[in-house]
Amino acid sequence: MSHGERNPAPHGLSDLRAAGDVDAHPGAFDASAGRGVPTWLAAMLNYCSRCGTALRLGPLPAEDRERLACDACGYIAYVNPRLVVTTLPVNEAGEVFLLRRGIEPGRGLWAQPGGFMEIDETVHEGAIRETLEETGLVVEPGEIVGLYTRPEAAIVVIAFAARIVGGAPIVTPEALEVRAFPPEAIPWPEIAFRTSEWALRDWVRRVRPDLAPDER
Ligand SMILES: [Zn+2]
Repeated sequence: MSHGERNPAPHGLSDLRAAGDVDAHPGAFDASAGRGVPTWLAAMLNYCSRCGTALRLGPLPAEDRERLACDACGYIAYVNPRLVVTTLPVNEAGEVFLLRRGIEPGRGLWAQPGGFMEIDETVHEGAIRETLEETGLVVEPGEIVGLYTRPEAAIVVIAFAARIVGGAPIVTPEALEVRAFPPEAIPWPEIAFRTSEWALRDWVRRVRPDLAPDER
C-alpha cells in the first residue's frame, strides 16, 4: 500500500490551523463533532481550487459542520476520506500472500497488496490491479473481510479475501519479498499497518477461529 498511513497525526482543534482562520472558530471540531481534518491534509487546503482565493473556515447554510469555503466564488472544499482497495490473496493451501514493503511507510514490514482506488475504475478492478502490480498475482476478489476507517490518515481500507487465479509472485521495488503465510504463522509483530493487522485478524477469525487471534 502507498497511502501515507504512518503520517504523524495529532488530533484536536489545531488540526485546521494551517488551512485557514481556525483561531476565529475554536469550536470548529470539538469532541462531539469529531476530530476534524488531519494536520497533514489541512496543510494542503489553503486556496480555492477553482479560483485561487484563500479558503476560510466557517459556518455555511445547510451544513452541519463548519466548512472550508471560498468567499469569492462560493466553492466549498469538502474534505472526505479516500478508499484504499486491498486483497488478501489466498492460495489453494489456504495461505495468504503478504508482501514485505520496499518503500515507506512501513518499509521492511509486511502488508497485504493494495493502494488508492483510481477515479475511473471499480472497487474490484482497483483491488485486482493493485494486487497484480505489487505481487504479480492475478486474483478474483471474493467476500469482503472488512472495512476499516483511519481518520488520521483520511482513508477507508477495504479488504477482500481473494482467490488466486493466475500469475506468480514477483519482486518489485515496492515488494522486497512476496510470501505465503498459513493462518497460524502470520508475522504479527512485523505487520506494517494497523489496518493490515485488523484485516488479517478478521481473516484468521473466519478461516481458523480456533486460533483466536485477539487473544495474542
Ligand atoms: Zn473560489
